[in-house]
Amino acid sequence: MRVLYEKGAPGRRAVRLPPFDGPTEPAIPSALRRETPAALPELSELEVVRHFTGLSHRNFSIDTHPYPLGSCTMKYNPRACEQAAALEGFAELHPLWPQLRHGSPLTQGALEVLYETGRLLCEITGMAEFTLQPLAGAHGEFTAARIMAAYHADRGSKRTHILIPDSAHGTNPASARLAGYDVVTVPSDTGGVMDFDRFRAALTPETAGVMLTCPNTLGLFNPRIREIADAIHAVDGLFYYDGANLNALLGRCKPGAMGFDLCHLNLHKTFATPHGGGGPGAGPVGVVERLRPYLPVSRVRKAPDGTFHLHYDEPRSIGYVAPFYGNFAVIVRAFAYLQMLGREGLRETSDMAVLAANVVQERLRAAYEAVTPGRCMHECVFSARRQAAKGARALDLAKALIDRGLHPPTVYFPLNVPEALMIEPTETEAPESLTLLTDALLELAALAERDPDALRRAPETTPVGRLDEVAAAREMNLVWPD
Ligand SMILES: *Cc1c(COP(=O)(O)O)cnc(C)c1O
Repeated sequence: MRVLYEKGAPGRRAVRLPPFDGPTEPAIPSALRRETPAALPELSELEVVRHFTGLSHRNFSIDTHPYPLGSCTMKYNPRACEQAAALEGFAELHPLWPQLRHGSPLTQGALEVLYETGRLLCEITGMAEFTLQPLAGAHGEFTAARIMAAYHADRGSKRTHILIPDSAHGTNPASARLAGYDVVTVPSDTGGVMDFDRFRAALTPETAGVMLTCPNTLGLFNPRIREIADAIHAVDGLFYYDGANLNALLGRCKPGAMGFDLCHLNLHKTFATPHGGGGPGAGPVGVVERLRPYLPVSRVRKAPDGTFHLHYDEPRSIGYVAPFYGNFAVIVRAFAYLQMLGREGLRETSDMAVLAANVVQERLRAAYEAVTPGRCMHECVFSARRQAAKGARALDLAKALIDRGLHPPTVYFPLNVPEALMIEPTETEAPESLTLLTDALLELAALAERDPDALRRAPETTPVGRLDEVAAAREMNLVWPD
């Protein structure tokens, strides 16, 4: 496809403005003005519209195809939430606009959204207070790891490491490292959850905490959560809940009630912000009562007269992690989503997500090696080992799905599963879409038996075929040739 610079012709325009009749002496000093016009492409409006519409058709998105990427919760997000975020009173607010104490009521609505969203997240998770400041899940983990460090430092307790199961998202060990801790990896047991005995053996009085995803990235709920919590609390360590998979548990159980001390949620996975292409997101962090003093500033407070204020004077706070209101539009979407669904709606969301994942798991069991024998939660993981032995690896299956109009599932993650295919259908796919996806994967499994080479050639219907992905990342050439 040609780029915009190769299209159009001199003189083409979308709009023609009337001749300039402003002051003859321009406001920009002549020394700073360019002498020749910028070499911008000249196009009609229709050419521009077709160009970008054409590009968008080459994309895979939840608006166009089932998008079963595991660990990411790529669900459909209601347009009504987009409209809420785009309301003038939110979208045109400036972060430096004064708060009420300076005499302006203009930010009160925004502060109320922050306050109420925090309150709802507390209700959902059983935490005592949330900060909505962190700008992504990973940022929430880092914030939480710093809260853990501040807690132990306050008690004069020397802690050296954090325990993390081997199925964890890569951001967990990265966040722990950035907060100054060593990472001790705990292997999974044969059932796919953190090995309890290996965990007990790794736990010492120098353990700062445990970071656990639940359900984990294999889509499994750890049945020994309470025992893990008791063990970590016995050494005054903290139990951290990576809530990226909360889409499986809404309205069914609360991390706070399971013994977790702090958690992050991914608003962009669970609560209605589309997040293809890496953003934007929000990773609010919730804590139990005894960790409240360490939360970052600012905090939103409600005064006795019902007005809302940003509060900064918190001596034991870890300080700033992001400016002003965090990723505010993401928070507005989450607030709108929570209001729309309500308690019953949220519970149904999770129930349907879990049901859909189990439908997919049962349909594919005959052709692919399921990693776990029983039921899964919101996602299921298969190993394509059988297909790989025939010459068609997980990557080949993923590329072949693209030719069939489907976004591939996550592949090669979690790391403890060879040739992993990780599928998360979410609650928003209709039964027909689940059939489409599973039929395609069953067809590919049959093809892997018969003609694995055909899979290795995929994708064949896309503008570009197989790329050298390492070179694309390591030897980036972003300069357009003159
Ligand atoms: C997505 C995810 C994260 C990281 O969240 P980001 O918003 O992408 O930084 C952490 N843990 C798990 C289990 C995840 O799925």
